[in-house]
Amino acid sequence: MASTEEFGLFIDGKWESPPGRDRFVTKNPANGEEVGSFVSAQPEDVGRAVAAAAKAFPHWRDTPAPKRGEILLRVAEELRHRKESIGRVVTREMGKVIAEGRGDVQESIDFVEYMAGEGRRLAGETVPSELFRKFCLTVRQPKGVVACITPWNFPTAIPNWKVAAALVCGNSVVLKPASNTARCAAEVVKAYEAAGVPPGVLNLVTGPGGVTGNALVDDPRVRAISFTGGVETGREVYVRGARALKMVHLELGGKNPQIVMDDADLTLALEGVLFGAFGTSGQRCTATSRLILHEKIYDEFLGRLLERLRSFRVGDPLDEKTDMGPVASADQEKKVLEYIRIGSSEGAKLAGGGEKLHGNDYDRGFFVQPTVFETKHGTRISKEEIFGPVLSVLRAKDYDEAIRIANDVDYGLSSSIYTRDVSRSFRAIQELEAGITYVNAPTIGAEVQLPFGGVKNTGNGGREAGSVAIEEFTEIKTAFIDFSGHLQKAQIDPR
Ligand code: NDP
Repeated sequence: MASTEEFGLFIDGKWESPPGRDRFVTKNPANGEEVGSFVSAQPEDVGRAVAAAAKAFPHWRDTPAPKRGEILLRVAEELRHRKESIGRVVTREMGKVIAEGRGDVQESIDFVEYMAGEGRRLAGETVPSELFRKFCLTVRQPKGVVACITPWNFPTAIPNWKVAAALVCGNSVVLKPASNTARCAAEVVKAYEAAGVPPGVLNLVTGPGGVTGNALVDDPRVRAISFTGGVETGREVYVRGARALKMVHLELGGKNPQIVMDDADLTLALEGVLFGAFGTSGQRCTATSRLILHEKIYDEFLGRLLERLRSFRVGDPLDEKTDMGPVASADQEKKVLEYIRIGSSEGAKLAGGGEKLHGNDYDRGFFVQPTVFETKHGTRISKEEIFGPVLSVLRAKDYDEAIRIANDVDYGLSSSIYTRDVSRSFRAIQELEAGITYVNAPTIGAEVQLPFGGVKNTGNGGREAGSVAIEEFTEIKTAFIDFSGHLQKAQIDPR
């Protein structure tokens, strides 16, 4: 049997395995195969990574932004060459089906290319002065050393969303990826290395959140933290960062609704919910976890959904014909099965699925059936984030009730409505409490050139991607140039 490939930490442009450190392995959630072996970084390793980033920062900051953008373009090229191989690593390490594994890498390529262009923009503004012969403008400056802490569900796309935006703005970065997708992060970092990102500008530390992550968050040289993950972890990172007055950007959970009105194209809405709820085994922060059906189409739509699920193929995610792979880990499986138990115990009607899958194709992995509950709004399964292939179906008597149900959760990331009524479409865009609303499309499907993020417990107000991505990673410097030759006093000189 081939031995498991070993990866080190990437610090100051070199891969290194400090002696005496524990190692951990990542495993394929479909069959238990080992995918990579990684160093459990200790706080002193994190300290060295931050020191390397701090040392590299001044030169990178002073490198013209278009040059930084050119290096990112080379990163995108490297990722493009490796799309198939990294896509397969994504599928083997995280379990999403291979089309989505490739999609994860494609999203990385798209975003890195998009950010490369930002190297020739990074726009500030010029505004008039109230005084004679005085010029006022703003420029964007990098923050310094930035920590990027990322989850496992988009194991290449999310690291790239953060790293490429931080780098084009002139920051140096220490990346701490989710432990169970450390190989994906290492493959991403190798692409940056091959593209010629200078030593120390991007560093990778692997290891458990409670040790490696905490050390990174607490290091006083880290000026900003970009975190994507669960609400509880995000809250902890926020509090720790706040003590040192660091800027902390949080992208957290969701409980995203798809509303289907009585005038909707039901076939379209059906395709939408199948993809939204069960794509990536429901483990997208934008996954559809609530289906709110107008009462007039409730029975017909639910019947058609259950019919389609009967032929849904759950299995090997590397098989192109598979519709849904495993969930990402034993912990995920446990959590999902626990929510299925909670659903049944709180009186929800299990309409489809609900079981762990057994048999030769499944026994070495974490396979759960796509699961549908009919439930009332207010149950735990209708309000808490499950992050798995479990859909709660809710009934609404009209548009207003559908919106009320949709909004009555602690999260506000994505949302969707299927209707042919143009007024309702626009009302929904105004009235749904979410960072993203889709009309006649599922709750998933972000595009890199548009802002991404949410309201309520989904985050703390920032957005990633789109042209606003650079706001997370820059400070605004205001400059005044007085060419009058004498002292002028704003607000005081005679008018
Ligand atoms: P976690 O919050 O468990 O982990 C996220 C990252 O934080 C991991 O790298 C983890 O490391 C690290 N971490 C854990 N504890 C600490 C700590 N004390 N200090 C610093 N870092 C720490 O989330 P998951 O990885 O389980 O991801 C799933 C969650 O992410 C879901 O709730 C989902 O909704 C959310 N998510 C949100 C998105 C959004 O954009 N809004 C997008 C994708 C996911 P380790 O792996 O070693 O524990």
